[in-house]
Amino acid sequence: MKLRFFLSSLLVLLGACKPSSTEPGDGKSVAVPARSGKPQVLVANYPLQYFAQCIAGDAVEVRFLAPKDDDPAFWQPDDAAITAFQNADLILMNGATYSKWADKVTLPESKVVDTSAAFANTFIEINDATTHSHGPGGAHSHSGTAFTTWVDFNQAAMQAQAVGEALTKLVPDAKDVIAKNTEALKDELESLDDRMSALSRRLVQHPLVASHPVYHYLARRYGLNLKSVLWEPETVPDDNAMNDLKSILAGHRARWMIWEGEPAKESVEKIAALGLKSVVFDPCGNVPDSGDFMTVMKANVEAMEKAFQ
Ligand SMILES: [Zn+2]
Repeated sequence: MKLRFFLSSLLVLLGACKPSSTEPGDGKSVAVPARSGKPQVLVANYPLQYFAQCIAGDAVEVRFLAPKDDDPAFWQPDDAAITAFQNADLILMNGATYSKWADKVTLPESKVVDTSAAFANTFIEINDATTHSHGPGGAHSHSGTAFTTWVDFNQAAMQAQAVGEALTKLVPDAKDVIAKNTEALKDELESLDDRMSALSRRLVQHPLVASHPVYHYLARRYGLNLKSVLWEPETVPDDNAMNDLKSILAGHRARWMIWEGEPAKESVEKIAALGLKSVVFDPCGNVPDSGDFMTVMKANVEAMEKAFQ
């Protein structure tokens, strides 16, 4: 009985951050479900969806409309999705130039919260004009402000704090539970930050290559010596891609490649022939195939610990 009670309390705890009502979109045309009567919170990416649901629970309806196969940073919402944003009670943006679409759309300014505003003075600027494409969004460049802010878990905790403050204003009746959930989420993010910081001493000794330029804040916070190619985990590198890698390795003696997702077996073998091992650190900008933001980030940190401890 005791064990059963323990297990069921554990499930309640684990379930605290389960997404309640949001399904990822199913393609280009976004089905916009009817309003539930709860305050509508629209979010720019999956990390913010997770944070808002963790913090507000059932007090609001959190909606993330980008389809699962799109990169939410380069997503172009259709008219229905734009209308949903314009009618929202709260719009949680990632900031750092994340939602390119929002530059061309008028959003109700009083409803918009930029969750990375607290650390905007330390954004990283990338000077690299190379364009490429992944997903259905067409060609893009990573030039400009680096926007994968939450892979620095200290920054992620500041974003969680901003989400908590915005939700408190939106549903003041729930302020106690919001405060408690915000602290719990920040604690989890800070413990990931501690674990990555503890690895720093090892990480500085290892030049690394990343499969895609999305780790600037991870590299800065935790001391990674990182150079990037422009690969996708599901695409086996061709000769051109391999030459890009070889020219990096000529001046940067990396022994590991960090991938955004599980790489194809053939890719792993191809880079192994150059002496590179593979480790996955999934930035999780969109809904993961399994688990949630926190389980994915814990798996990332565990993989890094296993590789570098
Ligand atoms: Zn890209």
